[in-house]
Amino acid sequence: MAGRPVTSGAVTRFAPSPTGLLHLGHAFSALTAAAQGDFLLRIEDIDRDRCRPEYEAAIFEDLAWLGLTWPVPVMRQSDRMAAYREALARLSPLTYPCRCRRGDIRAALSAPQEGALPAGPDGLIYPGTCRGRSHAEAGPDDVIRLDAARAFDALGRDAVAFTDQGTRHVLTRQQFLDGIGDVVLSRRGMGTSYHLAVVVDDAAQGVTLVTRGLDLFASTHIHVLLQHLLDLPVPDYLHHRLIRDTAGRRLAKRDDARAIRQYRAEGASPANIRRMVGL
Ligand code: GLU
Repeated sequence: MAGRPVTSGAVTRFAPSPTGLLHLGHAFSALTAAAQGDFLLRIEDIDRDRCRPEYEAAIFEDLAWLGLTWPVPVMRQSDRMAAYREALARLSPLTYPCRCRRGDIRAALSAPQEGALPAGPDGLIYPGTCRGRSHAEAGPDDVIRLDAARAFDALGRDAVAFTDQGTRHVLTRQQFLDGIGDVVLSRRGMGTSYHLAVVVDDAAQGVTLVTRGLDLFASTHIHVLLQHLLDLPVPDYLHHRLIRDTAGRRLAKRDDARAIRQYRAEGASPANIRRMVGL
């Protein structure tokens, strides 16, 4: 199996969303993860509107072509709704239903603010309009937000921290409140959010080293807070560099030109792909 170390002991994973074809950035991410230890695959398909079975099939096929293997059955987030519901219920004393739409949030933030609106890894920093609403008041279209200040207080913590390749990264309570805020734990019509699902599943799969791109670095602080709140172990992290196109832009799923499929069709080998991403 490609990219497998002789010993390591880490349990790691690649967790793509089947919303498009895998590109060079995904190949790099999966190969980097597989080089760290026992490699798991997880399909992150909570966004039923954007996920497609044909993309999921293409993920399996492209990864196998790259030389990766993984245990089956593969965990699929759409099968895990009961686990997310349970986690949400446990967090309910620290969450509230929010009925604000993006426009409401923008309007509330623009009033005191000149120029660019404050945003973090979960989007605009929520101004707190619905904070304090009770679950009894929840409407069917509400999202569920974490009251981040109360969460830190309940834990008696003034910071969250994680280790990335031996370096400890700390974010204080105040930095979290200013730069991230009340994150969404359950999206409209989804029953969970990326942040909640990823934390619940990494723990359920026994992942000890989360390998992911640097674009998710700021989100990791959210995940560590949730791990503490849910009494889950905090894994180690490896945030890897991002693969960029020739103009220096991060690759996105819409960049079909850099899809692994496309290179395969043009006759590239797995070794060519490794070289292209600098492995
Ligand atoms: N599913 C996420 C994505 O495709 C990555 C999840 C993670 O590494 O935490 O961007």
